[in-house]
Amino acid sequence: MNSLGRGLMELVKETTKMSQVIVTKMINPFYWRQANKDYKMMVEKKVPGALERMEKGELIPEWEYVTEGKLGWEYRQVLAGNPDPWCVEGNFYPRADHTRPHILYTMEDYRVVGCVDCMDDQHYINYLLINVNEMGRCKDCGSCYVCLPHPEPDLIWVDPHH
Ligand SMILES: [Zn+2]
Repeated sequence: MNSLGRGLMELVKETTKMSQVIVTKMINPFYWRQANKDYKMMVEKKVPGALERMEKGELIPEWEYVTEGKLGWEYRQVLAGNPDPWCVEGNFYPRADHTRPHILYTMEDYRVVGCVDCMDDQHYINYLLINVNEMGRCKDCGSCYVCLPHPEPDLIWVDPHH
C-alpha cells in the first residue's frame, strides 16, 4: 500500500473514532444521564445524605466531597482556618512613613540612597540625597529615610592602606 492509501486509511479510522465519540458521548442523552447518575452516586458515597439535598435542588460544594489529593488537602486546610495553605500571600510590611522611617547609620556627611519601597516593576530607581540628621522622603511612594551618625564608629572597619 502506498503512502496516499495509508493516509486515507488513517483519515477514515480517525473519522470513525470521532463520529463514535460524538454519537456515544456528545449527543447521546443516555450517556449523559448515566454520567450524571455516576457523579451523584460518587458524591453520595463521599457525603452521606447528599442525594436528598440534591433532590431539593441544592448544589453540593466541591469542598464537601473532594477529599483526596492536593485539592482535598487545600480544602481541609482552608476549612480548618488556614486561608493561605500554599503560603503565597507574602508578608505585609507597613509603609516606612515619617512615624517609622528607615534608619541609615553613616560615617559621612550625607548618603545617597535608592528607595527600596517603590513598586517592584518600576523601570527606574528613585535616588535621594539625605544629609546627616535629616529625613528624606521618596517622591514616588512616600517612604521616609533618616540619616544618623553611626553610634559606634570604632566598629567600622577602616582600610589601613588609605
Ligand atoms: Zn519610593
